[in-house]
Order: sequence, then C-alpha cells, then structure tokens
Amino acid sequence: MSVLSVRDLSKAFGGVHAAREVTFDVAKGEFLALIGPNGAGKSTTFNMINGQLKPDSGDILLEGASIAGAAPRTIWRRGVGRTFQIAATFGSMTVVENVQMALISHHRETYSLWRAAGEHHRARALELLGYVGMQDAADRACRELAYGDVKRVELAIALANDPKLLLMDEPTAGMAPRERNDLIALVKRLVLDRGISVLFTEHSMDVVFAFADRIIVLARGRLIAEGNAKTIREHPKVQEVYFGTGKTFEKVTS
Ligand code: ADP
Ligand code: MG
Repeated sequence: MSVLSVRDLSKAFGGVHAAREVTFDVAKGEFLALIGPNGAGKSTTFNMINGQLKPDSGDILLEGASIAGAAPRTIWRRGVGRTFQIAATFGSMTVVENVQMALISHHRETYSLWRAAGEHHRARALELLGYVGMQDAADRACRELAYGDVKRVELAIALANDPKLLLMDEPTAGMAPRERNDLIALVKRLVLDRGISVLFTEHSMDVVFAFADRIIVLARGRLIAEGNAKTIREHPKVQEVYFGTGKTFEKVTS
C-alpha cells in the first residue's frame, strides 16, 4: 500500500487555481521529487498534506486513512514530519536540547521550556545528531551554527517524531551547491536506511536528477509529467514549461 495517496486535490485562492485535481502516490521508502516553475502550486500541495491549508476538494490518504482537512498537529502525530523553518529551532538552546525538546514532545510529555532539558532523552538525541553528522556540535547554541548545519539539526528534530513520511519544501533554499548536494545525499541515505518516504521540492535540477527515485512535475496547478530522470529530462511538456521548447535541462540549472 502507498504511504501517501493524493487524490484529485484542488485548491483555489480567489481566481487562482493553485492546485487542480492533483493525483499521485508516494510509496514506502520512496524519495519523490515534486518540481515545477515558481507559482506552480508545489507549496500549496505540501501545505494541504501537512494540514496548514484545507483542500477545496479531493482526498489525502495516509496508509489508506484520510487526513484531508485534519489539523496540522493531528497529521504530525499520525507520522507526517516536515523540516521546519529556522525560527522553529530555539536559538538560545543548545543543539542537543532542541532535539531533546522534540523527543519530549513526541513522547507527549510536558516539560517547561524554561527549564533545561537536562538528561531527558539525551542519549537518543545524541544518537539522532550522530546520524545527521552533528554530534560534535551537540552542546553549542543553535544560533551559532552555520546555515547548512541548522538544516541538519532540523532534520534530526524531524526524525525525533519517528515519521513515516517526511515533507521537505525547498530544504536547500539559500544553500551553496555543495551544501545542497550534501543535505540531499544525507536525506537519501535516510530513505534507504530507514525506509522513510520523502516528498521534496528542490530548485537544482542536477540534485533532483541525481537523487530522486521518481519525479512529478506541476505547472499551473496541474500535474503534467511523472517518471524517472530520463523521462522527465526528455519530456516535451516539461521542457516547454521550464525553458520554452528547444532547450534542455543540461543547459540550464540553478
Ligand atoms: P510554488 O510553491 O510552486 O511556487 P505556490 O503553491 O506557492 O507555488 O503558489 C501557487 C499559486 O497560488 C501562485 O499563483 C500563488 O500566487 C498562489 N497562492 C499561494 N498561496 C496563496 C495565498 N495564501 N493566497 C493567495 N494566493 C496564493
Ligand atoms: Mg513554494
């Protein structure tokens, strides 16, 4: 069974049809890229899946059960994780404390934010940090970290919730090419090692073509293509929406 099934999902903002009858599946352990030009409806689709936006119509099934229109917290509890914006990590807390807080929340324990997290879940938090290559920075304040390292910590925080499906909307925004590659390679390893499914957006076609198991393409709210890197690279509709006809992906990457 698919981990996620999106069925005929639609959402309009006034006269703008941001998503129109979008239908796709994410298989267990699949690393699926959602691409498309700016304004194609990628974030709208993500935000319907994570509960921040209610669909106008259509359905979203997580392991066969509908989560369409449920509250973000409910969807998160059901195992749909996402990487958060930088602001979601508490800058003044240490790296390991941030992950400990996420574990505390996952285990539905209450804990005062104003008390140090102490030893609570520390071993597990360090293990998760080791997994993303950030164990050495465990006792540093989050606000001191370089941008790419914050992203790794955010990934450890997302993993603390033990997700079945991870949603990553432009996780590498603002990163240098090398850092992008490293982060996506790390997420790919996660998919392979843990069988987590990941749905992500990414601007760099090089990165998408190198790492995604499968690619789906949105343009003006509609899915226009689906397939592996070769299929997508050669797809006439995809070439048209990105570059106008005649150009290829090899010549244009961001
Ligand atoms: P993408 O993430 O692919 O760049 P979005 O999903 O952010 O695209 O946007 C799709 C379309 O919906 C765009 O035309 C955008 O301007 C519009 N849109 C997105 N969110 C809103 C909103 N909250 N209110 C009005 N229009 C929106
Ligand atoms: Mg977007």
